[in-house]
Amino acid sequence: MRPIQARISIGAMAHNLRVARSHAGTARVFAVVKANAYGHGLSRARRALAAADGFAVLTLEEAANLRLMGVDQPILLLEGMFGADEIATCADLDLWPVLHHPAHLDWLQQQPPARPLQVFLKFDSGMHRLGFPLADHAAIVARTRSLSAVAGITLMTHFAQADETVGVDWQLHPFLRELSAYGLPWSSANSAALLRYPQTLGAWARPGLMLYGASPFADVSAEQLGLRPAMTLQSEIISVQTLQAGEGVGYGQLFRADRPMRVGVVACGYADGYPRHALTGTPALVDGRLSRTLGRVSMDMLCVDLGECPEAGVGSPVVLWGEGLPVDTVAAAAGTSSYELLCALAARVPVEETD
Ligand SMILES: *Cc1c(COP(=O)(O)O)cnc(C)c1O
Repeated sequence: MRPIQARISIGAMAHNLRVARSHAGTARVFAVVKANAYGHGLSRARRALAAADGFAVLTLEEAANLRLMGVDQPILLLEGMFGADEIATCADLDLWPVLHHPAHLDWLQQQPPARPLQVFLKFDSGMHRLGFPLADHAAIVARTRSLSAVAGITLMTHFAQADETVGVDWQLHPFLRELSAYGLPWSSANSAALLRYPQTLGAWARPGLMLYGASPFADVSAEQLGLRPAMTLQSEIISVQTLQAGEGVGYGQLFRADRPMRVGVVACGYADGYPRHALTGTPALVDGRLSRTLGRVSMDMLCVDLGECPEAGVGSPVVLWGEGLPVDTVAAAAGTSSYELLCALAARVPVEETD
């Protein structure tokens, strides 16, 4: 069998949820499990994160799967309904849609469901992606309150820079200034805001990334935040090459040896979810020692430097990210984010679930 696997830890996710809760105060916590739980598997995440107060997903299909798995907590649809035809299912399965566009109010008015819905009314406080303009709040809140299809409203917004130095106040202050007079519950915090800005907590926090053991911040590691990596992508060396000075390795011969050196060929490539744009020098753990990738990542293989690993040979374990090598470190070296690496884990990679 091809030696690659992703080890995914139930205990790490459960631990990370406890960390999230320790920051959440009295706010309730939606575990964000969109994108196949950031690559960790929806069903697995649902078990690991069973203690969450609710789950947040993108699609009706994910929500329906969670209900089939026995989830009885609230389920938030982060982008709401993608058509009026989804209203009835929201009512049947008791899903809470985000309403972020006038079309959603029209749909609910024209096709009210059999029983009214809890909704999250999303305002744009500066990200300029989804949400009603803050300036329209009077008309939007009044209209939403008037709909027989709506049982209750939670106000919502999303931060564009919670992970950066500029932070959240430039969005949070206008949001609260305009909307707090309504006395409605509200929700704003993603992982970064939950970890760093207690003023964002409101009624519901919505952490995703941190539950999987990665840090949203460039300057603070997951370990410093008390988080444990939930996914370890691991493989083995399947061939060893010895390069002479001047010889190159892989497509494009992007890496060339300047002296004789041993190169390990690892069974992991971009079709497994490893980033093809990772350049020479991206860290990898070979036999527990820090090494680096060499040359271009292929579809099914990549190469690592065995210069510091004289004992390593065919069969030696290689950790691409996870335990011993934070996914954040690999992402930074590869010019991407841990979000992208985790989500990109390919379906062909076998998963071993651990405690
Ligand atoms: C994905 C998402 C989150 C979770 O964000 P993290 O940075 O992963 O914690 C929260 N809220 C919304 C609206 C999202 O789309």
